[in-house]
Amino acid sequence: MENFFISKPDFADFIKEISRDFVTFYLKEKPARFDWKQGKRKLLYWQKYDDNLEGLSLSGVRAQDSLKQFVFSCKEKVSDDFSDPKNRKKPVLLVGAKNCDLQGLDITDFVFTQGDFKDPFYIKKRQDMFIIASDCANPLETCFCLALDINPYPEKNYDLGLCDIKDGYIVEVATQRARNYIAEYKNKFSLASNAQLQRKRDIRDTASSDVAFNISKYGVPRKNELQGVVEKCFDSQIWKDEAKTCVECGSCNFICPTCHCFFLGDSKEENKNIRRKIWDACLYKDFAVVAGGANPRKRLFQRLRNRYDKKFAFFPNTLGIIACTGCGRCISGCPGKIDIRRILKNMAAEAKAAV
Ligand code: SF4
Ligand code: SF4
Repeated sequence: MENFFISKPDFADFIKEISRDFVTFYLKEKPARFDWKQGKRKLLYWQKYDDNLEGLSLSGVRAQDSLKQFVFSCKEKVSDDFSDPKNRKKPVLLVGAKNCDLQGLDITDFVFTQGDFKDPFYIKKRQDMFIIASDCANPLETCFCLALDINPYPEKNYDLGLCDIKDGYIVEVATQRARNYIAEYKNKFSLASNAQLQRKRDIRDTASSDVAFNISKYGVPRKNELQGVVEKCFDSQIWKDEAKTCVECGSCNFICPTCHCFFLGDSKEENKNIRRKIWDACLYKDFAVVAGGANPRKRLFQRLRNRYDKKFAFFPNTLGIIACTGCGRCISGCPGKIDIRRILKNMAAEAKAAV
């Protein structure tokens, strides 16, 4: 892969130039605050760009909210005539996407672009989106991507990849669209030197060993140890015990880069029938209720188990990939302190003991 170097002022100019074609969002640092799981950490969120990159932080971790919102909004009108260009929005440019979110796009791409029904709204946003990804240099204690064979730096589903080496960024070019931008603004980019490339390798090695340390501290099983565990633990007490503190808030679903369930809601507005696609959560009591009123997952522990079944059994069996990227958001977002690392660890141990 081609690697270039760009200084931070030149990068700011570059974003200013190319933002004319997009609605741009970038990773911005929130003022430090105390987080019950992370201690005092600077957290990040997606800031809409308004001619400057104030507070841009590319060496931290993923934002608190995943990037799925840019292709699959929490509430989206889907009754507009899609063939009419006035109903299409300007494409999105993201600056700073992390690998756990990029890997999550494999799941939403599968759901919305393959199969019998293809979602034209998703497809258009996804095709037009330009993604500038970035390395994680400072993983959180809740990050466990490496356990699932996902690295803390961009590997797929991005156009340009950045590694913050303090005096500027090392830039990886992953697509032809990105190559075209580099050619257009070639005065801002130079070939990365061997010393700069070594700094990037060092940053990646340090981040990987930080994540590996967390994985071993919390005993998170590796991907190969998770094969078939949900099926083996289907009748386990784990689900009833863990479900005791769940308050059915749906936060784990909404915050997750791979959760994609939605329902369609109809309303009448200004004498027009409007249909909206709205995020749903499989932990909600009525999630699986069918038209006749029957509920196949009446009990909360069944719904919690279903979430793990989808992620660690259904998707590996259907698509060959686990529908969890180890981003750790559901750990810090759960008011019931339900920790996916603990559930995976207990499942793997129980499945092993049963052999
Ligand atoms: S299940 Fe939790 S850790 Fe896994 S991708 Fe979803 S939010 Fe992240
Ligand atoms: S975030 Fe926690 S409490 Fe809320 S629905 Fe998910 S498991 Fe239950």
